[in-house]
Amino acid sequence: RMAMPRPARTRVMVVANQKGGVGKTTSTVNLGAALAQLGQRVLIIDLDPQGNASTALNIEHRRGTPSTYDLLVDGAPLADVLQPCPEVEGLDVVPATIDLAGAEIELVSVVARENRLNKAISAHPGVGGPEVGEDRYDYVLVDCPPSLGLLTLNALVAAHEMLIPIQAEYYALEGLGQLLETVEMVKKHLNPELRISTILVTMYDGRTRLAAGVAEEVRSHFGEQVLKTMIPRSVRVSEAPSYAQTVMTYDPGSPGAMAYLEAAREITQRAVRS
Ligand code: ADP
Ligand code: MG
Repeated sequence: RMAMPRPARTRVMVVANQKGGVGKTTSTVNLGAALAQLGQRVLIIDLDPQGNASTALNIEHRRGTPSTYDLLVDGAPLADVLQPCPEVEGLDVVPATIDLAGAEIELVSVVARENRLNKAISAHPGVGGPEVGEDRYDYVLVDCPPSLGLLTLNALVAAHEMLIPIQAEYYALEGLGQLLETVEMVKKHLNPELRISTILVTMYDGRTRLAAGVAEEVRSHFGEQVLKTMIPRSVRVSEAPSYAQTVMTYDPGSPGAMAYLEAAREITQRAVRS
């Protein structure tokens, strides 16, 4: 694969949408793997107690494994909880275990509970600008659970950019208002740097007029933020996790893998925050 230029600083991107099943996890793991194939150093943080991203990346995530739970609840350093992905070179992962399901409640009494992930990421020696050197992470991708609770809030506070996957389906835009209001609230009170940089249309079925209509609606609503590349609906994409793989290694020539590679290339080419 042709390497793409690395950003000047680590780009922390949160992949969020409170709707379930829109392709958050699929997009996080495949974009992460695709970015790594393009010569970027990538860290994926699994923030969903289901641990689907950890499964897809073949990362140990049994109860008790060092994970995002330790990061958030015990303040463990990032370096103590990450694992290299055995399937993809240049990709590290912080897994999520089922322990994380209790974290929202356990965090209620913790001071600055919405700032825990931000603290862990910014304290990591591999995150930052040129001063960090060659070993720096170019991208930190955070896979969120399907809710706007304290876990997603931690991700929004830690991020520079937000990537919203939108499924090309009827009702695609429903519920987005609530998501955008949450982003505005976070920008105003907690993280002025946050911006919605990237919208990705997922599970696109080019044969249906409905999908084309939804894609058009998304573009007229978000404009430049929408990636030109849309991810096609493809069985290969949905099969890959059951082999503990991303589609990028499971079937690199498939339309889904090629679309994710193209989407990743677009992301590397887009204007980075000033
Ligand atoms: P979320 O993380 O938003 O809940 P997922 O990424 O888990 O959503 O995707 C939901 C379901 O849709 C999963 O079963 C996944 O395999 C499937 N899926 C995601 N993207 C595609 C695609 N491009 N083609 C076919 N199936 C897909
Ligand atoms: Mg998910």
